[in-house]
Amino acid sequence: MEPRAPEEETFVNVFISCVLCGLAFEVTFFFCHYLEHMFPSLYINCHLLHHTTKADIALSGYYMTLIDYFGEGPIPMLAQLLPTIFFASSSTAVIHGIYLNILYATTVHSGWRVPGVSHPGMHWLHHNHITKVGEAINYATHFDLMDLVWNTKSYKYLEVEQRLNEERARIKKTK
Ligand SMILES: [Zn+2]
Ligand SMILES: [Zn+2]
Repeated sequence: MEPRAPEEETFVNVFISCVLCGLAFEVTFFFCHYLEHMFPSLYINCHLLHHTTKADIALSGYYMTLIDYFGEGPIPMLAQLLPTIFFASSSTAVIHGIYLNILYATTVHSGWRVPGVSHPGMHWLHHNHITKVGEAINYATHFDLMDLVWNTKSYKYLEVEQRLNEERARIKKTK
């Protein structure tokens, strides 16, 4: 298919392309991450280094082995080319997906609640919840979709947040 010329781009086309690219990214990212947790040798040699961090510093999102980085960055980014090629969707959406991944990689590891992006507790729980191989939770970092489909979603971080808020309120009262 011929790539679209800039004058052929419309807002609707870019929006639909962003959704298609986002889906391609999510599915690829999820399974790359999931497989790293499923195989003990892959987990120990490629992913464990990333899990030695507690997901409370933005830069820790990039503390990982090279194979880990490719599975969670460039490979899902390149997967966005599939809808772009097959549906002649907007290449602008590919750039959008790449920047979105960089944004999410830093915010989900920052420990900060940034309006409009995923709650950092979601990935914090993934890092700190000790599980047997293949039994982790919250593999996705952008949206909940794949964790809901794969039944690996946990909202337990909200309970932790509530406990912290109660403790904070108690300390405030005693001051
Ligand atoms: Zn992991
Ligand atoms: Zn992480």
